[in-house]
Amino acid sequence: MTEQPRVLRFAIIGAGMAGILSAIKLEERGFTDFTVFEKADRVGGTWRENTYPGLSCDVPSHLYSYSFAPTPDWSHRFSPGKEIQAYFERVAEEHGIADDIRFGDEVTSCRFVDGRWHIETAGGHHDVADVVIAATGVLHQPRYPDIDGLEDFEGAVFHSSRWNHDVKLDGARIGIVGTGSTAVQMFSALVDRAGRLSLFQRTAQWIMPQENPPYTDEERAAFRSNPEQLTEVRANLTRMFDTFANAIVDADSPEMTMIAGMCRDNLEKNVHDPELRERLRPDYRAGCKRLVISPDFYGAIQRPNAELVTEGIDRVEGEGVRTRDGKLHELEVLVLATGFRTDAFMRPMSVTGRDGRTLADEWAARPSAYMSVSIPGFPNFFMLNGPNGPVGNFSLIEVAELQFDYILQLVERLRVGECREVSASRAAMEQHEAAREEAVKKTVWVTGCRSWYLDDRGIPATWPWSFDRFRTEMQTPHEAAFEYR
Ligand SMILES: Cc1cc2nc3c(=O)[nH]c(=O)nc-3n(C[C@H](O)[C@H](O)[C@H](O)COP(=O)(O)OP(=O)(O)OC[C@H]3O[C@@H](n4cnc5c(N)ncnc54)[C@H](O)[C@@H]3O)c2cc1C
Repeated sequence: MTEQPRVLRFAIIGAGMAGILSAIKLEERGFTDFTVFEKADRVGGTWRENTYPGLSCDVPSHLYSYSFAPTPDWSHRFSPGKEIQAYFERVAEEHGIADDIRFGDEVTSCRFVDGRWHIETAGGHHDVADVVIAATGVLHQPRYPDIDGLEDFEGAVFHSSRWNHDVKLDGARIGIVGTGSTAVQMFSALVDRAGRLSLFQRTAQWIMPQENPPYTDEERAAFRSNPEQLTEVRANLTRMFDTFANAIVDADSPEMTMIAGMCRDNLEKNVHDPELRERLRPDYRAGCKRLVISPDFYGAIQRPNAELVTEGIDRVEGEGVRTRDGKLHELEVLVLATGFRTDAFMRPMSVTGRDGRTLADEWAARPSAYMSVSIPGFPNFFMLNGPNGPVGNFSLIEVAELQFDYILQLVERLRVGECREVSASRAAMEQHEAAREEAVKKTVWVTGCRSWYLDDRGIPATWPWSFDRFRTEMQTPHEAAFEYR
């Protein structure tokens, strides 16, 4: 061991939920030499970018909050996106990290040279850091559908995460492509405003009914005056969501059967026209795709000005969408709620690790990492919400917090001088991947649907064990799983 602890310099890439968390936790641990690089001009990531009508969390707000920054003020059980964005901005401000963020400059490359990371930005800035934290998000790069003629559309067309607020919605003929959580949330929010609202459905979704009551002033006052109540709410929600997380990794569990029953009852009791009901009935099991949660979608789709289009899209024309049956659906606004490139992670940024090996080489087949956080041969480079991590209907904040505490334990080895470089060993990553690929076989994600969880081989790119196991694994890094130099 060296005598003096090393003074480490950090580069955090991204100032969304995970980047803010990293900056706060580094400060807390006395690591004050860091810069957060954020290509946009504000913090917030997902919640800054997504501003579509109806956006809300689909994890209860008291669970979708940092453990170190609970707030009594959430307006609803599932609070709106604007409020979540305001929460992240407030937490960043209260912890004084704004001055540590370099806004408006995208990191384009990270290169490991002589034991340190050399960082280049689009704006021509150069920096050097000992440790890189990639907090660049997973639902971040919009996925545009491959539909002929999109560029010919004469109305307004945009991706759900790039909402054009100049476009008039009231009374307009609006089409939404996609049926995921985003499409469902915006459908319910737009139906009362649109003249006509058409949902272009490729795949029907199971919808889990969840009421979204507001918190009363009394409840919020009670949370404020009695923080123990806040802790209790969070603990109860954690227990509830753990049940869900554990159910989906065991396709035959009684809880999974219960969830499937709730979704089926929701469809059967709340959609009255038998023909519409069948068109809305998925032909795969509930939970196979990320479960969509909504208290009001079935009500919205049955409104007189609502239309479910199940005929496939042939092409887009100047006037609207033409479906394969030859019918033209005339539209003024077309929203592409078609999700994200979930295999991009920090790309297009280029990353070059030890001995000139690039991320493009390493991820030529598909993204992979040991425990989602470390890539063999890319020392002192860590990811939050990286490849194959927990996904599902639970809080990614808890995931990122656990991962960051795990990473800090590896960083501590650098700080005290036990080593100068640490990254996962290839053998550990391969073993981890083999075990993961075996375990996914009993999850509900492989029971016969197309979803963004599945990689190019049809293997879910997710954590296939219980959430408790994730918590346990994140307690302490396995000594032998890492290479130290
Ligand atoms: C519509 C929607 C609803 C969601 N709802 C939920 C939910 O209910 N519960 C839940 O747990 N999760 C939800 N998520 C997932 C959500 O993405 C995460 O919860 C969380 O916000 C991710 O935070 P992050 O910091 O990891 O990534 P992001 O929020 O994506 O932030 C990444 C940041 O990195 C910046 N960045 C990226 N690359 C670079 C670069 N090269 N240089 C500089 N800056 C860069 C980006 O500009 C961005 O600000 C939702 C996602 C979407 C899209």
